[in-house]
Amino acid sequence: MATRSLSRNVPTGASPFAVEAEELAREKFVDPLVTAKGEARATVGLRKLDTLWFATGTLCNLACANCYIESSPTNDALIYMSAQHVARFLDEIGPLNVREIGFTGGEPFMNPDIIAMIEGALRCQHEVLVLSNAMKPMRRHEAELLRLRHDHGDRLTIRVSIDHHTQEVHEAERGPNSWEPMLDGLRWLSANHFSIAAAGRSLAGETQEQARSAYGALFEAQGIAIDAADPSCLVLFPEMDAAADVPEITTECWGILGKSPDDQMCASSRMVVHRKGEPAPRVVACTLLPYDPGFDLGDTIAEANGAVSLNHPHCARFCVLGGASCSA
Ligand code: SF4
Ligand code: SF4
Repeated sequence: MATRSLSRNVPTGASPFAVEAEELAREKFVDPLVTAKGEARATVGLRKLDTLWFATGTLCNLACANCYIESSPTNDALIYMSAQHVARFLDEIGPLNVREIGFTGGEPFMNPDIIAMIEGALRCQHEVLVLSNAMKPMRRHEAELLRLRHDHGDRLTIRVSIDHHTQEVHEAERGPNSWEPMLDGLRWLSANHFSIAAAGRSLAGETQEQARSAYGALFEAQGIAIDAADPSCLVLFPEMDAAADVPEITTECWGILGKSPDDQMCASSRMVVHRKGEPAPRVVACTLLPYDPGFDLGDTIAEANGAVSLNHPHCARFCVLGGASCSA
């Protein structure tokens, strides 16, 4: 973030102190301990590691307009996670009783090790959640997915992103010809009795009830067995304006907002990422912040045990004020 010069714009004859005071006004989301107003910044401690996410890599068959991680067919800022690295982290968490292993991308099924990684987690008796767009990369693995379904049943869940319950809005975000292949993938999963879920959005001006009802009608018409009324089967994210100003979260905010640090994603999850140019994967606070060094917590789960300082606009916009959770 740019630091402003103290000597700039001092009017002749005016007291320099007033100008200094204005110039010294701190910018938001700079100091991990205090906010721009000098208040104690909120932190979130790791209550219990319930979900360990692996970023499988940023490559994706799509290039969605608002992809928060800027995935695309050419972005490999997060390189493919390897089954060998996943095995190392599964060994580390072995005794920690972690319920769920999540895989997110990019498109996880583009990673050549995806089946080995899923199977490794299932064999360790974890529940596994894979976030997919259910398009061609997933369909290439049909035979292996049917085998995993047969061997491990409902411990494997595939959650499919549907940006909206209308083709028009979905394709405006995801690109032309992204609607039918997604629906076809969902129908295949449903017909083969996979544990499935969907992640959608409710647009501004659309209530959660309206959105759930419209998604429900879509699933029924398509023969897709997802209960749109159940928030664990259809996760709905509100539409967010990433450019809008957000307040910083202070220690006082929990009481004022009636929210708890324990309900934030980073109270119960961590994510493993392998950034291009780095020799090995690192553990970060959450799925939303794979690149920010302030949220890089170490190279083992043990090192990533500490409290997270909510020093990023996403913390306010998506979590404390927005109520997002990536986990099912
Ligand atoms: S499908 Fe998901 S990961 Fe791929 S570009 Fe779209 S939002 Fe990003
Ligand atoms: S973005 Fe959310 S989950 Fe991530 S560190 Fe901030 S509050 Fe925690």
